Amino acid sequence: MAAGSAIQIPTRLPLLLTHESVLLPGSTMRTSVDSPRNMQLVRSRLLKGTSLRSTIIGVIPNTSDPTSDCDDLPNLHRIGTAALAVQVVGSNWPKPHYTLLVTGLCRFQILQLLKEKPYPVAEVQQLDRLEQFTNGHKSEEELGELSEQFYKYAVQLVEMLDMSVPAVAKLRRLLDNLPREALPDILTSIIRTTNQEKLQILDAVRLEERFKMTIPLLVRQIEGLKLLQKTRKSKQDDDKRVVAIRPNRRISHGSITEDEEEEEDHDDVVMLEKKIRTSSMSEQALKVCLKEIKRLKKMPQSMPEYALTRNYLELMVELPWNKSTKDRLEIRAARIVLDNDHYAMEKLKKRVLEYLAVRQLKNNLKGPILCFVGPPGVGKTSVGRSIAKTLGREFHRIALGGVCDQSDIRGHRRTYVGSMPGRIINGLKTVGVNNPVFLLDEVDKLAKSLQGDPAAALLEVLDPEQNHSFTDHYLNVAFDLSQVLFIATANTTATIPPALLDRMEVIQVPGYTQEEKIEIAHRHLIPKQLEQHGLTPQQIQIPQVTTLGIITRYTREAGVRALDRKLGAICRAVAVKVAEGQHKEAKPDRAEVGEGEDCKEHVTEDAKPESISDTADLALPPEMPILIDFHALKDILGPPMYDMEVSERLNQPGVAIGLAWTPLGGEIMFVEASRMDGEGQLTLTGQLGDVMKESAHLAISWLRSNAKRYQLTNASGSFDLLDNTDIHLHFPAGAVTKDGPSAGVTIVTCLASLFSGRLVCSDVAMTGEITLRGLVLPVGGIKDKVLAAHRAGLKRIIIPQRNEKDLEEIAGHVRQELTFVLAACLDQVLNAAFDGGFAAKARLEQLNSKL
Ligand code: ADP
Repeated sequence: MAAGSAIQIPTRLPLLLTHESVLLPGSTMRTSVDSPRNMQLVRSRLLKGTSLRSTIIGVIPNTSDPTSDCDDLPNLHRIGTAALAVQVVGSNWPKPHYTLLVTGLCRFQILQLLKEKPYPVAEVQQLDRLEQFTNGHKSEEELGELSEQFYKYAVQLVEMLDMSVPAVAKLRRLLDNLPREALPDILTSIIRTTNQEKLQILDAVRLEERFKMTIPLLVRQIEGLKLLQKTRKSKQDDDKRVVAIRPNRRISHGSITEDEEEEEDHDDVVMLEKKIRTSSMSEQALKVCLKEIKRLKKMPQSMPEYALTRNYLELMVELPWNKSTKDRLEIRAARIVLDNDHYAMEKLKKRVLEYLAVRQLKNNLKGPILCFVGPPGVGKTSVGRSIAKTLGREFHRIALGGVCDQSDIRGHRRTYVGSMPGRIINGLKTVGVNNPVFLLDEVDKLAKSLQGDPAAALLEVLDPEQNHSFTDHYLNVAFDLSQVLFIATANTTATIPPALLDRMEVIQVPGYTQEEKIEIAHRHLIPKQLEQHGLTPQQIQIPQVTTLGIITRYTREAGVRALDRKLGAICRAVAVKVAEGQHKEAKPDRAEVGEGEDCKEHVTEDAKPESISDTADLALPPEMPILIDFHALKDILGPPMYDMEVSERLNQPGVAIGLAWTPLGGEIMFVEASRMDGEGQLTLTGQLGDVMKESAHLAISWLRSNAKRYQLTNASGSFDLLDNTDIHLHFPAGAVTKDGPSAGVTIVTCLASLFSGRLVCSDVAMTGEITLRGLVLPVGGIKDKVLAAHRAGLKRIIIPQRNEKDLEEIAGHVRQELTFVLAACLDQVLNAAFDGGFAAKARLEQLNSKL
């Protein structure tokens, strides 16, 4: 069969390097491939090859493939087996690998290695040929005698087995039909032999030698079987037949060490069973596991399902069924931790403490899930982490952004190749306790797809009535999640599915004011960055004015993430200077800068009287910290990204500043209008949604109906504003989709400016929905909008009167720096938006008549 003269292998063979088992000609082996060169071979030869020839590979035993393809190849075993790849199965679990089914054809010898990458290829010489066997040095008779003897032993061995089993009967027939020369290889791979022995047989290129070496192995097996049959009186069934073929270790002393390896695996399974029995898993889980381990014991290890079942059982053992940390909640300590970790956010901290206090008193976790909603970088995640710290619980973050498959939450059924548990169970395995704090990050970014709705799966997880028996598809048994403390974060509640939102208690986390950002930077961000970059306060000084400069000119955000990144960039640049010892050059530069004076004052304020470590001494003398002033800032971060451009843009009629709310916080938004000769058409540009378009139409209608009252005329002096006139309204930043009713007042103001030819005050921003009758209706997101206006340096803000209550949530110092105009109707808005008011003629008349 294998050594038939008809087999002619190619002279160049790609080589598969194996070290766990030895493939002999005429036998079949399953091997797992996961090293880089071997994987490459499978991909480019077996998966892409189209001819039968491309499925022939050289299997080199006793040589392991290096774990990195940059490593050199080890010395290759010189003799290998040319093999036909019969089947390739790929899997990604637990890591990417292929399982190959290969059948040995014949021996070969490596003549020369042709290339090593991406997989080794060698020039080879085929070794097994029939004519070679008969032309050996030994006479035919001698070989005949040997082969006759071998044949007898082989028959004796096979006949000791249960002939009623079809496979055994077939083997008996094969003994007669196969060429004798092929028998040593085939029998060696059938009987129980160690890898070492198989390797010796493979290396025995001369047939005579091969026969001589195999006979003792056969004899050993026969003796073993005899002994076994003596001890076993009962007739063996099919399963036991497999056991019977196994050798008796008491007979062959030499093979014990190699046998141990395989026994080890068996021991592992026994250990696993022990672990299962001693683990504290639920009764239902225990039942399933015991059933699975029973199956595992019967399974050959080379079966892909073996690894799957084993992984499953190992996960079941590892899961923290009953393991938990002890809560050490003390509200006073919790307050201190929260205060130490976070500056400002008083309302959030207060609410979190209330939540914890109630949990402590009630001693259970049933109740709504906290959901922190706010722009990015305002510390939602980090508050979650602090909560875990105060409770002494483990913390685990589950990022839900973009998750669109419910099996991400609930796991895949184990019937899938590469199935795995969902993120909840995986998280529990990672933390190793059943009462961690799970932070479900970005619940507003869950997506839906054909694979089911992950939000629906989350409902089960978050429902205290259901989650004590949460069933992950992979586990297929219930796991109690009732001890887990879930906290969610989101940028906006608008995209959270209502059912999910219903389970949560939303706590708004607004953006920070400039002053708060400066405090956060100096109390938390800068010390953290210094530590991360191995710098000390003696090596770098960032005065508060510089921080303010970064906040106003290099970032425009509600949170502090970009600020943190910029501070990181500064620390990196300083680290290079310190490492190079170039800091001395920085000093003369600095002296030239006007703002330097300003900075120095703060330096003395900020300098901490800390002792300087020896290393710091070496790197930099203490009197010379690198001072980050505006000049240095420009060097490191480049030219400022944001300028105070507001007043420049308001230097002609037809421009007004609105305030918009986005999930990333508040923003100021310019509205521009222009008019031209035409037929009364309105053009809107800037990626607007339907509501925004409607606001624009409303605004025009209101202005047209009130044109006389406000003395608004078109270019030809007519009160019909659209007569022979086209209007174009533009909302810059055209790439960003905008929608919502709150731009109504801004559009009216902008158009009023256009038609009156008067400039809108450059320091005023506004927000509010309008009605056709000219009323101003309340809008959302006032807090974020006010902060955005404050960030942009605006001084006056027009908001709907009915939003007055929202102003209470704004920090006192911000309120002090701003003037709020509460408007109930458009008349008030226009009066506030233009210097000297925007007097309506009708009203003047009215007033006159009253007088
Ligand atoms: P979010 O989850 O809201 O997007 P993070 O929690 O990731 O934001 O916060 C970003 C960074 O800003 C973190 O390093 C965090 O420590 C810091 N941070 C945010 N707010 C504060 C604060 N009030 N006090 C101290 N550090 C803060």
